[in-house]
Amino acid sequence: MIPSQAKPHETESHTSFDALMKITDRPPLVFVEGRGSWLRDQSGKAYLDFIQGWAVNCLGHCHDAITRAMAAQASRLLNCSPSFYSEPMIRLADLIARHSGLHRTFFANSGAEAIEGAIKLARKWGQKNRNGAYQIITMDHGFHGRTLAAMSASGKPQWEQLFEPKVPGFPKVELNNLAQVERAITANTVSVMLEPIQGEAGVYVASDEFLRELRDLTRRAGMLLILDEIQTGIGRTGKFFGFEHAGVTPDILVLGKGLGGGIPLAALVAHEEVCCFEHGDQGGTFNGNAFATAVGCTVMEEIAKPGFLPQVARTGAYLADRLATLSRKHRCGGVRGRGLLLALALGRAIGPGVAAQAFQRGVLINAPRPDCLRFMPALTVTHEEIDRMIGVLDEVLEQTV
Ligand SMILES: *Cc1c(COP(=O)(O)O)cnc(C)c1O
Repeated sequence: MIPSQAKPHETESHTSFDALMKITDRPPLVFVEGRGSWLRDQSGKAYLDFIQGWAVNCLGHCHDAITRAMAAQASRLLNCSPSFYSEPMIRLADLIARHSGLHRTFFANSGAEAIEGAIKLARKWGQKNRNGAYQIITMDHGFHGRTLAAMSASGKPQWEQLFEPKVPGFPKVELNNLAQVERAITANTVSVMLEPIQGEAGVYVASDEFLRELRDLTRRAGMLLILDEIQTGIGRTGKFFGFEHAGVTPDILVLGKGLGGGIPLAALVAHEEVCCFEHGDQGGTFNGNAFATAVGCTVMEEIAKPGFLPQVARTGAYLADRLATLSRKHRCGGVRGRGLLLALALGRAIGPGVAAQAFQRGVLINAPRPDCLRFMPALTVTHEEIDRMIGVLDEVLEQTV
């Protein structure tokens, strides 16, 4: 898609937004198509997309391989109910097992739903093996989704008073602080759950050392390590999974976002010894449907192609380098993150304004917190697209005091 050739979309018409619940402040325009790193709205304006549906379109918008897989599966089989096997369901579970080193998968339709499954699995395991231990230690500022238990497990300060009472059993500790984890452990603690990189919090990396210490600690204490890799998994950090950087393997792994390449798909993955669900404990109407899992297979196969992940690592290093230069020039606070999940610390609360200005100039960037910007482009983003985004950001920062 070439921005200068933009033409108004033919479906342009009077648009009312009134029939939609207000859940966020959306700009008053309508997106109609996307290709790779580009989106186009109803008026024909093109946008360079460094959000990608919140790190969901890992291969960019409407990648040919995904479109082909969807068309092929759509005319073959969509859903045969979760009480039967389908070919793509089996194949995707095999692919996940092969790449993760874990053994079994339960498919879900959203990250939060898979997190709920992880919490249930850990509690069930605690019932069976740890005398009913149920507490899961989670991190301050962590984000695990928007169902009630996932919100309770999250450490978002703005959520503390929301939808009370919460689900009990999620004591919080500081990220990268092992002593606090040790102090939080009681006879009722069954697990520790965290993101290898806290995305929503503003891209804060759990250090490799902390992850290794947590692995040792949980093993010694007979507890489970749950990694929420909904944002960091499927190539985002330049490795298939974020935990590979630290060389640890969790007992339970949660995947989402990139796994579906843009369609709803998530996964609860676990070590054989932890898989203690009995028939009837877990399920769901759409879970593991043939359509979604066929797309997941295609995503996994693309990411696993020789050279793909090294390319993500190189592109990530290039983006980090360009951002670091920008940071020095505009006296910002530096760059955080790994691979193609990066943040520019701004050092002041100008994030939303900068993101809004960039949006006006046709670049989509997210400000997860007022004092930083987050970058989660397609894993296939090019150096030219990065240069173009940096150029716009440079102009915007120039004009922002
Ligand atoms: C997005 C996200 C979730 C929630 O996933 P949904 O699909 O929005 O329910 C949970 N954990 C992390 C780390 C995420 O980034």
